[in-house]
This record gives sequence, C-alpha cells and structure tokens, in this order.
Amino acid sequence: MKAEVPEEFELLVKSVRQFVQRELEPAAEVVEREGRVPEEAVAKLRGAGYFGLTIPARYGGTGLGVLPYCLVQEELAQTHSCFGTLIAGNNGIGSHALVHFGTEEQKAKYLPALARGEVISAFALSEPNAGSDAEGIETTAHPLDGGFMLNGRKHFISRATVADLFTVMAVTDRAARPKRKGITAFLVERGTPGFTIGPAHRTMGSDVVPAGEVTFDECRIPASNVIGEVGGGFAVAMSTLAEGRLNVAAKCVGTARRLLDLSVRYSKERVQFGRPICQNQAIQWMLADSATEIAAGRALLYSVASCLERGEDVRRESSMVKLFCSEMVGRVADRAVQIHGGMGYMSELPVERMYREVRLWRIVEGTSEIQRLIVARSLLEE
Ligand SMILES: Cc1cc2nc3c(=O)[nH]c(=O)nc-3n(C[C@H](O)[C@H](O)[C@H](O)COP(=O)(O)OP(=O)(O)OC[C@H]3O[C@@H](n4cnc5c(N)ncnc54)[C@H](O)[C@@H]3O)c2cc1C
Repeated sequence: MKAEVPEEFELLVKSVRQFVQRELEPAAEVVEREGRVPEEAVAKLRGAGYFGLTIPARYGGTGLGVLPYCLVQEELAQTHSCFGTLIAGNNGIGSHALVHFGTEEQKAKYLPALARGEVISAFALSEPNAGSDAEGIETTAHPLDGGFMLNGRKHFISRATVADLFTVMAVTDRAARPKRKGITAFLVERGTPGFTIGPAHRTMGSDVVPAGEVTFDECRIPASNVIGEVGGGFAVAMSTLAEGRLNVAAKCVGTARRLLDLSVRYSKERVQFGRPICQNQAIQWMLADSATEIAAGRALLYSVASCLERGEDVRRESSMVKLFCSEMVGRVADRAVQIHGGMGYMSELPVERMYREVRLWRIVEGTSEIQRLIVARSLLEE
C-alpha cells in the first residue's frame, strides 16, 4: 500500500501546508527566539477555524473526521510543535468526551466557544500515583448537595496553565470492583472555587505551551457537569485515548517527514572529502531506512484512521499505530542528528529541538510498554 493522501483530502492538506508556510513558519521563529506563542499566530489559528476542526458543524466547528484531522496534525508537525499542541485539546482529548458523551445542554454551552478557540481545553487523568495504572487514580468526587465535591491532584496535564475547561476523571465509588467502574468524568471550569491551576512543569521539550498540575480542594461541581454516566468515566477516558493515540501518531509521522526532508537537503549540501556526504552509502542507508519506516507508519495510520471513521473497533490497532510511529520518529530523529553531524547537536537548527521533543511521544497517552500490553492482551484474549 502506498501511503498517499486520499484524493478527497488533497485540497485540505494543500491549504494547511500553505497556512503552515505563510503564517506559522514566521511565527515559529518568534517562538524559538522569545519562548512564547505570538498572539497574532493564535488569532490566525482562530480565524482559520483550527480550534474547531473536529467539532460538529452544528456547534460551529468544521466536523472533520478522524483521518482528515490526522492529516492536518501531520502537516502542522512540519513546523514548531507548539501550534499542534495548542489546538490538540479542543480537537481531541479536551473535547472528545463532550462531543461523544456530553448532554445536548453541555454541548450547546461549551462546544461553540471551543470551536472558536475562545476556550482552551485539557484532559486530566494522570496523577502522581497513577500514570500507566489509570484505574488507580485517587482524586475523589463525593456526592454533596445534589452535586459533587472533588479532592485530589493531577499532574503532567498538557495545556494546564492556558486551559479554561478540563475533562477530569475522579473516583465516585471507592468500593467499586473492578475499580474502573467507580470512575466518573467531570467538566471543571477554570475559576471554580477550590480548583487551582499550576505550577507548570519544566521539561526536556520546549514548554512554550506547558504541561502543569491541577489541584482540587473541596471543589464543588454541579451534577450537570458529569459527562456520561456516573461510573462510566473510565470508558470515556479510554475512548478519548484510543482516538488521541492516532493524533499522536500523526504528529510523529509529520515530524519524521520534516526530519527526513532536512536530512536529505543537508546531505546534498554538506561536502566532506571533496563530495557531498549523500554520496556515501552509510548516509544513503540512513535516509532509506527513515523513508521506509515513515511510509510504513503513514500507511498504517491512514488505514486505522479510516477504520475508526467507519465505526470499527480499533483499540488494538490504535495502540499498534501509536507504538510504531512514536518509536519510528525516535529512530528518524536520531539518524537526522547523525546525518547533520555537529550541526545536528546545535540549537540553531530545528533538528536538535525535534530530537528532544519527539521523546515525549513514547510516553504520553500511554507508554510504549502499555501499548504493547494492550496489543498482547487483545491477542491472548482472542
Ligand atoms: C509532557 C507530558 C504531557 C502529558 N499530558 C497529559 C495530559 O494532558 N493528561 C493526562 O492525563 N496525562 C498526561 N500526561 C501523562 C502521561 O500520559 C503519563 O506520563 C504516562 O501515561 C505514563 O505514566 P507515568 O509517567 O506515571 O509513568 P509510570 O506509569 O510510572 O511508568 C514508568 C515506567 O514503567 C513502565 N510500566 C508501568 N506499568 C507497566 C506494566 N504493567 N508493564 C510494563 N511496563 C510498565 C512504563 O511503561 C514506564 O516505562 C503527560 C505526560 C507528559 C510527560
């Protein structure tokens, strides 16, 4: 199978590519220089509808399906990662629960503002004592006065310091067995008394759109902010992550493509021993291995994204895609640094930043080990 953009999405990809080149690449220079996302770039993302790509049209979004949204993220990954990260909540893990499990009232209240990018969203599952073991979360939500009172702490939450709306997983029934049956999903707004955001984490990535902590201290939430069923939160979280993993894979493919382009170009320009380094078989093999792995990851991603769009159960396959693509981009980034030699280690080229940033993808939204565990379990259960 050739990993090509399906014909019906060629125009979409072309327009995103132009937007990246015209609007985001110049802004990326400001990001690198000043460590902040320029407000004009955020306004352009808003104006062009990037915050509402996957939000249904009747709530003001574009209503893109899984595959076209992956294609958009793949293109955005050609430039600084902060832009893709900024829009990823509203189009994915921060809105998925609302779009797929929310009540009509919740959707009408929040989705239009999310689609316009006036509200930024986040997804809060991970805690200091519960990462891979997501069922082990300790944040509690006790029924109180017709609503719930939340207590606990979440960490490593992407966009925490800029987000206005959080999908939060908390335990409503500590005695439930299996434990997943006691977890419920809630909507929590910034500014709710007892809800504290921050501090931001400092990481090996660029931290322009930082991940951070959020804390609940006797934080009262109305019952109308429950997403889905009480006790149904774990299923909401897993559905969110199954789709989110494809989006992560799309970013991996996009970044890998950029790294390969940079490597090909540099290997043709850089002359050693009187000839371009690309004339050495050692360099050619690295380029060939990267190109082959990118094509494999891309083909798998497009195929699984299409299956998910058709409503097929792709929990196993979405773990395979995330596993393969996140490990693939790590190898591609490593080869890119090697091909660039000392320049690959210098911050003046984007290769150095990308090498650091792609390390995240083997950890976030389920580590490589957890993806293997999901795949193996499903094989053994068959
Ligand atoms: C920058 C960043 C952003 C993030 N954004 C979000 C977010 O927006 N929302 C959110 O909820 N979370 C977020 N996370 C959390 C992320 O999903 C977790 O870090 C991840 O799931 C791993 O959990 P952990 O860090 O606690 O590692 P641990 O679970 O402690 O794992 C440590 C190591 O043990 C391995 N391990 C654990 N259990 C097993 C097992 N059964 N078999 C084999 N190996 C195992 C892991 O694979 C890993 O190698 C983010 C993390 C980072 C770094």
